[in-house]
Amino acid sequence: MQAVQFSEHGDRDVLEYGEFPDPEPGRDDVLVDVKAAALNHLDIWTRKGMPGIDLDMPHIPGSDAAGVVTEVGDDVTRFEPGDHVAVSAGVACGDCEFCRHGEESMCVDFHILGEHVRGVHAEQAAVPQDNLVAVPDHVDWETAGSASLVFQTAWRMLVTRAELEPSESVLVLGASGGVGHAAVQIADYVGAEVYATASSEEKLRYAEECGADHVVNYEEEDLADWVRDETGRRGVDVVVDHIGAATWRDSLKSLAKGGRIVTCGATTGGRPETDINRIFWNQLSVIGSTMATPGEVDDVLELVWDGTFEPRVRDVVPMSEPAAAHELIENREGFGKVVVKPDSEL
Ligand SMILES: [Zn+2]
Repeated sequence: MQAVQFSEHGDRDVLEYGEFPDPEPGRDDVLVDVKAAALNHLDIWTRKGMPGIDLDMPHIPGSDAAGVVTEVGDDVTRFEPGDHVAVSAGVACGDCEFCRHGEESMCVDFHILGEHVRGVHAEQAAVPQDNLVAVPDHVDWETAGSASLVFQTAWRMLVTRAELEPSESVLVLGASGGVGHAAVQIADYVGAEVYATASSEEKLRYAEECGADHVVNYEEEDLADWVRDETGRRGVDVVVDHIGAATWRDSLKSLAKGGRIVTCGATTGGRPETDINRIFWNQLSVIGSTMATPGEVDDVLELVWDGTFEPRVRDVVPMSEPAAAHELIENREGFGKVVVKPDSEL
């Protein structure tokens, strides 16, 4: 088969699209003929290399994909050939204290397809059945292949971890990115008042289409001042921050008394200066979140499949041009998801 792959960490020029041995599904695996896949910021980190993660080279990146089941292992009970499926990339052991309490994304052995083990940016992928979700036939491949990681991440952040209420207000930073645009839609669905930031007029318009009630270009205005002005100096109840060092202090300053900041990533760096005085005096909560449990994945993807939520596809790139796809993510142009399709599917 043809697969995106790299044999060493580095810049975009380490990416290749070429022959790779066909995957051989184990007893618990499902062989998927990939129709569409999507990029996440995670793919950039994985390509560059992360401390503590030692990959089998060559590595196939990619945590999001959808396609048709072509073969199932002997122990597979949930799927059969012909089924449409989407990948949910979080892998849990099923056996540790957290898994036994239904907290699979806190698994002590938690890892992610495409990040710690070979991923799905290829013509075919052998995926454990626990990492697949059924997709109704009416759902198009771009939607099926691009929703899972960002919508499950944003759902767990807002609904489970931050326990967002309809009467509350939420600030979503970077509303044009994958997690950001999912978070805006979910916060709007919950019924909260949604404040969103982005870096251009066009992106702000998209954020409004996703459900943002108040938007600001963070390159033109001071974020915390804007939030104070818009909220009558009160601040918001919840901030969704996946940006990290560049925004952390403004995020804390934007919170109302008793507010919660929920983070799932730090694309600009993970070691910001922080303001402990503000945290205790305003009685703030700092909440971490990563991926989601299988039940949360089912809940949120059901709302994608029925059209309540929509992953916005900004570009569809042939899988044979992986550097171009990574560049779209790194340059932060556009809004929503970058989809890649095997050239044989174009
Ligand atoms: Zn576990």
